Amino acid sequence: MDIKNNILEFTEKLNGTNCKLVAVSKTKPNTAISEAYEAGQRIFGENKVQEMTEKYPNLPEDIEWHMIGHLQRNKVKYIAPFVSLIHSVDSLKLLKEINKQAAKNERIIKILLQIHIAEEDSKFGLDRNELFELLHNIELPELNNIEIVGLMGMATFTDDKEQIRREFKSLKSMFDEMEKTNLSDNVNVSEISMGMSGDYQIAIEEGSTLVRIGSSIFGSRNTH
Ligand SMILES: *Cc1c(COP(=O)(O)O)cnc(C)c1O
Repeated sequence: MDIKNNILEFTEKLNGTNCKLVAVSKTKPNTAISEAYEAGQRIFGENKVQEMTEKYPNLPEDIEWHMIGHLQRNKVKYIAPFVSLIHSVDSLKLLKEINKQAAKNERIIKILLQIHIAEEDSKFGLDRNELFELLHNIELPELNNIEIVGLMGMATFTDDKEQIRREFKSLKSMFDEMEKTNLSDNVNVSEISMGMSGDYQIAIEEGSTLVRIGSSIFGSRNTH
């Protein structure tokens, strides 16, 4: 894989859109991340706490680290000092733990709520009702060390483009509804994280502001 060239191509494609590139570097070594960094890439996504905390100290400080994978409460403390955005939050319990660890580090940690948009079964993510229940929970306004800045979703893994489009549209419509609703001060939505290597074009057409691209930049993953 020509990582540098791939970054430049994605940067070119996203030029003029409202969408930023999250380079998903999970399972890839720091040398691969450095190559992308040299091509100007600054946002990197990881899905495992341990991998992210091992990579972080050995790479440039101006990298923005995004946690995109399922996060266990007992591991929040390891990433709280440095993580820029957590894409994958789907419970009040997890929000509270992130808030607690962010406070310890005297930070405000930005968060996306993960929504279950795929028609296929998945363990993770909120549906529309659960989303608004959480947003109206009376405990939410007390969480002063988090800021909910948007939503994240993953479409079904399928060749059916219309299905993928439908799923992305459902995420966008929840985002629009949040924008119109009067919510607590720690909810200020501007980001929709949707689109991966196989479906990012549709995601951008449907309003994505963060595409999470792994294999099209770094090549296929041989582990996981
Ligand atoms: C691995 C991963 C991606 C990137 O997937 P590719 O198909 O390799 O681009 C995006 N989002 C999440 C949540 C992931 O775990």
